[in-house]
Amino acid sequence: MTMAEANSQSQSILVLAPTGRDARLICRPFADAQHTCEPCADIQALAERIREGAGVAVLVEETLSPEGILLLREWIDTQPPWSDFPFIVLTTGGESTQHSLASFQRLRGLGNVTLLERPLRTVTLVSAVEAALRARARQFQAQAYVEQRLQAEAELISKAQQLAVSNADLQQFAYVTSHDLQEPLRTIQSYSQLMAKRYGGRLDEDADQFLTFMVEGANRMRHLITDLLSYSRVVNLEPRCFAPVPMDSVLAWASANLQLAIADTGTLITHDELPVVAGDQVLLVQLLQNLISNAIKYRGPDTPRIHISARKDGAGWLLSVRDNGIGIAPMYLERIFGIFKRLHGREIPGTGIGLAICRKIVEQHQGRLWAESTVGQGTTFLFTLPAEE
Ligand code: ADP
Repeated sequence: MTMAEANSQSQSILVLAPTGRDARLICRPFADAQHTCEPCADIQALAERIREGAGVAVLVEETLSPEGILLLREWIDTQPPWSDFPFIVLTTGGESTQHSLASFQRLRGLGNVTLLERPLRTVTLVSAVEAALRARARQFQAQAYVEQRLQAEAELISKAQQLAVSNADLQQFAYVTSHDLQEPLRTIQSYSQLMAKRYGGRLDEDADQFLTFMVEGANRMRHLITDLLSYSRVVNLEPRCFAPVPMDSVLAWASANLQLAIADTGTLITHDELPVVAGDQVLLVQLLQNLISNAIKYRGPDTPRIHISARKDGAGWLLSVRDNGIGIAPMYLERIFGIFKRLHGREIPGTGIGLAICRKIVEQHQGRLWAESTVGQGTTFLFTLPAEE
């Protein structure tokens, strides 16, 4: 229901009096005050009109038999929680307080009841009815508002569900395609290598060069697919129960895996005292290994020096991997975390997925990963991890 519909439904005044003439008399001041007033023939008709939507009912007490009250109560029991329909009952005038209390007791089951004792001034009746109409209009507005909110919420939930499904589909798609691409690629790779071996130097110079391009292209594609697969593996990981992981042993594993590159370049790795975090050891080794390997790959003219530091950060840890490499211009500091985003050409090999994987790993640990850098001086990658419970 719209706000306008709610307003129009909540404005009519229903009147039930012993005779049609009485009802018309009661209606007159409301009509004078520009309200819609409808006399009802009997309690059945009144209940029917209330059910269709109305603002307030004005009843003369004599019209309310015990059966009539029961009928109205039955309807009241079916009202939604937001609705509290107002009844104004004109009680018999000149009676004792005792009598009024007894009437009130009898009518109490109707809920929102106001007793007005006759004789009463027109202005008293009109103002009581207008106050009830205002309150009723508010109820309809609140209902329309809640309905709109609920509808918006339902739409949001359904959008989120659609998004989750399409996300899962995409992740599945990336995994399946990269996985299935491996097989034909292996064929291309082995036959191009075979051709290069068997026919290299036996054809003309151009053909030798084409063969080299083919072998190199196939190799590059294999790296891309392998990296894409490890990216989808990290993305597809279910949220897991983390175990305590000592970061010094993570560093030891990562360094061991990179020992050739470290030895070849004379890289010096130092570190602060490293904490025990809550996480997945295999993923954390992959994270540190990627960052250290990049620090070596993107080294400057000096011997690569890498320092890993850690400090408390709220309830968790803030770790960083600092290098003295070529650095990254400020405008690329965020872009480098995108898939296939590289700042270098073929002169430095790479697929541009390593940092995207790193970010996913940190996110899997409910952390953040970002970079700070000064071109020509070095880069620091910072990330947060949860502390061991
Ligand atoms: P890849 O190394 O395979 O190109 P990454 O996703 O690991 O892919 O890195 C993306 C880009 O970020 C790299 O191509 C490089 O330009 C830049 N980069 C990453 N690490 C460093 C670093 N330690 N120093 C300077 N540049 C870096």
